[in-house]
Amino acid sequence: MNILDGLNAKQKEAVTTIDSHLRIVAGAGSGKTRVITTRIAYLIMEKHVAPYRILAITFTNKAANEMKERVEGILGVKNSGVLLSTIHSLCVRILREEIRYFDYPRNFVILDSDDQKSILRDIYKKHEIELKSAPYAQTLSYISNNKTSFVSAGKAYDMANYEHEKRLATIYVDYEKKLQDMQALDFDDLLLFVYRLFKENVEVREKWQGRYDYIHVDEFQDVDMIQYGIVRYLCGPACILCVVGDPDQTIYTWRGAKVDIIMNFEKDFKGCKSIVLNENYRSTKTILKAANSLIRHNEYRIDKDLYTENEEDFKISFYESQDEQHEGLWIAKKIISLHQEGVPYHQMAILYRSNYLSRNLEKVLLDGNIPYRIYGSVKFFERAEIKDALSYLRLMITDNKSMGELAIKRILNVPKRGAGPKTMETMDVLAEAHNFDYFETIRLHPIAKGKTQQNIDAFVDLILKYRKESETMAISIIIRKLLKESGYFKMLEDANETDRLDNINELIHDIETYEENNPEGTLDDYLQMIALYTDTQEEGAGDAVQLMSVHSAKGLEFDNVFVYSVAEGIFPNERSVNEGGKHALEEERRLAYVAFTRARKRLFLTTSVGLSYVTGRMKTTSRFVKELGDDVLNKEGEIFQGYKAKKDDGITRTSSSSIPKSTRKGSLRKGDLITHDAFGDGVVIKISDGVAQIAFDKKFGIKKLAANHHMLHKK
Ligand code: ATP
Ligand code: MG
Repeated sequence: MNILDGLNAKQKEAVTTIDSHLRIVAGAGSGKTRVITTRIAYLIMEKHVAPYRILAITFTNKAANEMKERVEGILGVKNSGVLLSTIHSLCVRILREEIRYFDYPRNFVILDSDDQKSILRDIYKKHEIELKSAPYAQTLSYISNNKTSFVSAGKAYDMANYEHEKRLATIYVDYEKKLQDMQALDFDDLLLFVYRLFKENVEVREKWQGRYDYIHVDEFQDVDMIQYGIVRYLCGPACILCVVGDPDQTIYTWRGAKVDIIMNFEKDFKGCKSIVLNENYRSTKTILKAANSLIRHNEYRIDKDLYTENEEDFKISFYESQDEQHEGLWIAKKIISLHQEGVPYHQMAILYRSNYLSRNLEKVLLDGNIPYRIYGSVKFFERAEIKDALSYLRLMITDNKSMGELAIKRILNVPKRGAGPKTMETMDVLAEAHNFDYFETIRLHPIAKGKTQQNIDAFVDLILKYRKESETMAISIIIRKLLKESGYFKMLEDANETDRLDNINELIHDIETYEENNPEGTLDDYLQMIALYTDTQEEGAGDAVQLMSVHSAKGLEFDNVFVYSVAEGIFPNERSVNEGGKHALEEERRLAYVAFTRARKRLFLTTSVGLSYVTGRMKTTSRFVKELGDDVLNKEGEIFQGYKAKKDDGITRTSSSSIPKSTRKGSLRKGDLITHDAFGDGVVIKISDGVAQIAFDKKFGIKKLAANHHMLHKK
C-alpha cells in the first residue's frame, strides 16, 4: 500500500514537500495532524530518513500519544524512534543533558504550582507581607510575565515605581534566589533555560541543531515567543521545519500565544512554502456549517472556506433543561441509548468550559454506572479544597474516630494555625492515650504553645459549636458557616483562588440539592453517599466516556460530543470576558469553535435554566448556541420516562405534560422564573410548605418568601 493513498492532492503535496520549509494553515478537521503523521512515515519509509532524526512537537500529552499511535499504525512498528513530544518534555530532555552549563545537577527539581506557593509562603513571612496585599496567583503571574518577557528579578526591582510593584519585585528577587539555592526550575524556567542555553552557548546550540533534520510543530497557532525562539534555535541550517495551525483555534493568547507568528512565518523562514487545506474530513455537513457560522462572528480573523463532502446527517441536538440535574441526566440517558446502539463509550466525550462543571456530570455517570475517565484535571471529589471542606463536615460526626483522625490531620492547619510537624507529633503521641480519638485529644490537651494553641482552641470551639448546631441546622448552612468562621473562605479569597472557590460553591450547591431531594437525609447519609463517589476504583484501560475541559480537547476527535452547560456567563466565561473585553470574547468563541469541531457525527449541546452558583445569576442560553443558526439545531424534549438510574438519584421523573394544568399555571414550582416588586427577577430554587426559596440577583441573594405573596409574579 502506498503511504499517500487516500490523501487529497493538497495533502499529498504537503506530505511530499520535504526540501523546503512548510507552513500549513487550515481549519479544523482538514487533516493537518494527519499530514504530519503521514509525512513522518513518508520520510522514514520512502526517503529513508532515520527515525531519530525526526522531531514532532505538539501541545498536550494526550495529543502526543495519539500522534505516536498514528505513526506507529502507519509504520506497523512499536517505538518507532521518532520523538513525539510536548515542548515542555522536550525541554526537560534537553536540560537533562545540558544543565551542567548552569551548574545545576542532572536530576534538577521541577516545581509545580503547590511548590511555588509554599516558597511564596516563606517569603511572605520573612517580609511580613500579607496575603491580602498580594494573592499568590497574582504574584505568580507577575513573576511569570516578567520572566517570559526576559525581565530579570533585579531589573524588575529597579524598574518598580510604586510601593506595590516594589513589593512584588522584592518577592520576585527572593523567589529567584530560592529557586537557585534549591537548584529547582519552575515551568517557565524549563523553556527559558533552554532558550538561554541555545542563545548563549554556541557549542551546545550547534550540537542540538545537528540533532534533527526534520522538525514538525502541530497547533502552531498557540506558540508563544519563547517556544518559537526555541524551535528556531533547534532548526539549524540543514533542518527542514514544518508548522501547521489554525488561527481560528488560538486559545492561549492569555498565556502569550501570538497568532502573528504563524501569519509572519514566511518572513523568518525564507523560501517557505504555504499550503492551505480546505476540505474537512472529520465532521458532518451540519456540524461544519454550524461551526463556520459561529466563527464568522469573530471580527479579528481571516475568513476561510472550509467545506466537507461528508453527509449532512443529524442536526445538532440542543437541550435546555429545567435544572442542571436533569441536564446531566439527559446526557447520561443519551449515552446509555447510544451505547445500546453499539457506540463504544470512548467514542463519546463530554466537554466543559471550566473544570468545576464536572461535578454534576460525574455524579450522574456514577449513578448510571457509566464508566468515565477525566483528562487534564482531578476528579471533583478528589480535589484538595473539596476534601478540606468535607473534612470540616466530618468533624461534625462524633462517633467515628478514624474519620476524625484523617479529617483533623487534614485541616488542623488549613487555614494556617501554626500547627507544624512538631504539633502534629505531639498530637499523635497524646492520641494514643485517648484510644486515637483525635478530637477528644485536642479538646482535652494542649498540643502546642502560645498563639498556636490559642488557634487550636478556637478551632476546637468552632467544631463544638457547630456539632451542637448540626442537630437542627441544615448541612448546607453549617458548611458555609464553618468555612467562613474557620477562615477557610478568606484563605482562598486572599489568595485569589477563584477556581477553588468555584469548586466549593459547587459543593455547597450539591449539598443543597441533596437536602432538597432528601428532606430526611442526615449529614451521615450525605457523607456516606459522597464516600461512594470518592471510593471508585481507578479505571484501567477499559472503554470509558471521556470527560475533559475544552482546552484539553484540542486536536482530538470523537464520534459523539456533548458540550455541557452552554450558558451565558459559563461559556462564554464571564470572568474572562470581564477582564479581557472584546478580544477575550473572541477567544471564548474560538474555544467554542474548538469544542464543536471535535465532533465527527453528532454534537449535543445542553444547558439549564436556574441560578448559576458560580456567576450568581440566572442562566440563559449562550450566545454561541444562537450563533450556530436556527436551521442546524434540533431542540430536544424531555426523555426521562422510562429512565432508570442504578442508584436512586432522588429525582422524580414526571414528564412535564403529566403535571396538572392548574398547578402549572397557578402556584409556583421549582425552576419558575418570577419577578418581585422589590427584588426584581429571580428563580424559584425550592418550595416547601408554601414557602418559596428564591434566588435573586447577587445584591439581594437568596430569600425565603411566602409563595403566594402579592409582590411575587410568575413570568
Ligand atoms: P484539528 O484542527 O482539530 O487539529 P486537523 O486538521 O489536525 O484537525 P486531523 O485530525 O488530521 O485534522 O484529521 C481529521 C480527521 O479526518 C481524522 O480522522 C483524519 O484521519 C481524517 N482525514 C484527514 N484527511 C483525510 C483524507 N484525505 N481522507 C479521509 N480522511 C481524512
Ligand atoms: Mg490536529
